[in-house]
Amino acid sequence: GPGIGSWPARRARMNPATVALCTDAEELTYAELAVRVEHTAARLRELGVSAGTRVAYLGPNSIDTWVCFFATARAGGIFVSLNIRLAAPEIGYMLADSGSHLLVHGPECTELAASADPAEHGVAHVLPAADLRPSRLSEGAAGSASPSPIDEADPVELDDPVLILYTSGTTGRPKGAVLTHGNLTWNTVNQLAHVDVLSNDVALCVAPLFHVTGLGQVSMPTLLKGGTVVVVPKFDAGAFLALIARRRATGFSAVPTMLQMMCEHPDWESADLSSLRYVIYGGSPIAAEVAQAWLGRGVVVQQGYGMTEASPGVFMALPDGAPSRPVSAGVPHFFTDVRLDVDGEPAVGPGRGELLVRGPHVFAGYWGRPEETAQVLDDGWYRSGDVVRIEDDGWAYVVDRVKDMIISGGENIYPAEVESAIAELADVSAAAVVAVPDPTWGEVGCAYVVLRAGADLDEIALRAHLEQRLARYKIPRYVELCDDLPRNATGKVLRSVLREQARRDHL
Ligand code: AMP
Ligand code: MG
Repeated sequence: GPGIGSWPARRARMNPATVALCTDAEELTYAELAVRVEHTAARLRELGVSAGTRVAYLGPNSIDTWVCFFATARAGGIFVSLNIRLAAPEIGYMLADSGSHLLVHGPECTELAASADPAEHGVAHVLPAADLRPSRLSEGAAGSASPSPIDEADPVELDDPVLILYTSGTTGRPKGAVLTHGNLTWNTVNQLAHVDVLSNDVALCVAPLFHVTGLGQVSMPTLLKGGTVVVVPKFDAGAFLALIARRRATGFSAVPTMLQMMCEHPDWESADLSSLRYVIYGGSPIAAEVAQAWLGRGVVVQQGYGMTEASPGVFMALPDGAPSRPVSAGVPHFFTDVRLDVDGEPAVGPGRGELLVRGPHVFAGYWGRPEETAQVLDDGWYRSGDVVRIEDDGWAYVVDRVKDMIISGGENIYPAEVESAIAELADVSAAAVVAVPDPTWGEVGCAYVVLRAGADLDEIALRAHLEQRLARYKIPRYVELCDDLPRNATGKVLRSVLREQARRDHL
């Protein structure tokens, strides 16, 4: 079948000697990648991976991440890519919820993997990614194997799941969005229809591979075209500016916070950006000054808008249109249909309303959660929870969110999740978390906490509790102890009032 796991071998038939993936320490040509993937898939099968088996991965971006992703796909399994910023209990929950059979981790995450108690959560094998690499002895044998007979053995169909990514919601625990081989393939086609990716491109893979943007927005299109992907484990503004010049990079995708950190860096003025042909940013809105700063250096930064459930691309700005409309999300992708719900009525064309998305890249549902799936998927239309304005020329602007999500440095924070962690404390009677605009991170959280009479909880103890339970980026920047929360007649917390209050207090 045409599964994602067959991509390296397919490309190796065309340009075997081109470097597919590299870091400063290592590089793999397409032929070598195809063989490495084949070898790793065989190891995964020995460990019990077959059609539908979940293989969890925990580590920063590395060549091993890519190999494990392709090899899992090749073996018919489902790659569960876990955010390395999560706290151990959050990871444990995801291992159990996904029913992962294996947990593969990078060397940086050995302790985090162990502290998530994988055995307790049903995981049969925990192994360092390096253990999946061929030993020197078998590498000789594997190296001589031809990647070309791989396709016939591929057990996969395009409708089979290949990736689970956890995303939270307005209520309840995080849910695993299930993406199929077809979803990721169609997203890649959509990206290629929008951006001129070439076979001699050098893309920087800096967006984390535990978000679908890291996989799908620039790197998978580049790998399909036969270009080179430079894998970057960790973002540092100065080092990244230097890397662009050293690698003669042609493109990358980033969140606005990264673009801002680069243009505020002392090396910005002197950085050689002449090789860049396209930079895509998304995940949250960008400040117009930041977009202008990049345009001023001759680099068109194109906005992409999307979500995990859409693999992720929905809108993208066209490079020729972007300079005059630097903060527009652009037009829908080639195989993407969009619709606005205006006051509950479907509307096609210009207007302002909640965005719905349909297309072959829209996900199959949440893992094991038919009810939550039915709440957001209706006859193939995915309800985004975002308010979008589409102008007469068809260009879209993301103007608001129906959902209470906070976006901080490209990571999403769901207030309900933070609020329920706070409410676990016996001293707390109520809590609400809202967004406050922040010049660097876009938004940060502010928690309003009501204590029970006689409670002696203080902010330090509250923070210590949250650090045990939640990823650091989810812990509210500000905590306000208060006597009560503003509520409407039915007792619902008035978040808009709290948002105003938080702006007054902290902006
Ligand atoms: P995720 O599923 O984590 O990728 O988050 C998707 C959400 O991020 C969307 O539903 C939007 O609320 C937000 N988002 C993504 N791209 C943009 C963008 N370009 N501008 C504003 N918000 C965005
Ligand atoms: Mg996001």
